[in-house]
Amino acid sequence: MKLDHIGIAVSNLSSSNDLFTKLLKEAPFKEELVENQKVKVSFFHSGDTKIELLEPQAPESAIAKFIEKKGEGIHHMAFLVDDIYAEMERMKADGFLPLQDEPRIGANNKLVCFFHPKSTNGVLIEICQER
Ligand code: ZN
Repeated sequence: MKLDHIGIAVSNLSSSNDLFTKLLKEAPFKEELVENQKVKVSFFHSGDTKIELLEPQAPESAIAKFIEKKGEGIHHMAFLVDDIYAEMERMKADGFLPLQDEPRIGANNKLVCFFHPKSTNGVLIEICQER
């Protein structure tokens, strides 16, 4: 599976955008509000992959809870797949634990599904598919 992006939880998207622009020497190519996950995200190109910064928009957002528990930092790794339904079945059969029964619409208008970090050495895994 191809690494699509690495997601980083941040408290303040605007100051983190400045920081990562300085680090990567390139401004984010996109900023988006993902209503159903109550996060504002920005994306940076980094070679063939991307960096996604996620800022919570509400205290009940999963990103807000993550920051509260662990502080800012790497939140998930996302892999691009051709058929998210088939991959979900394959991964379930292989013992990975999906956090949802059906894919949902995530950032960049992709279909996404997350897998519990306890089945993947503490790393939250996202698989995503172009729509
Ligand atoms: Zn992501």
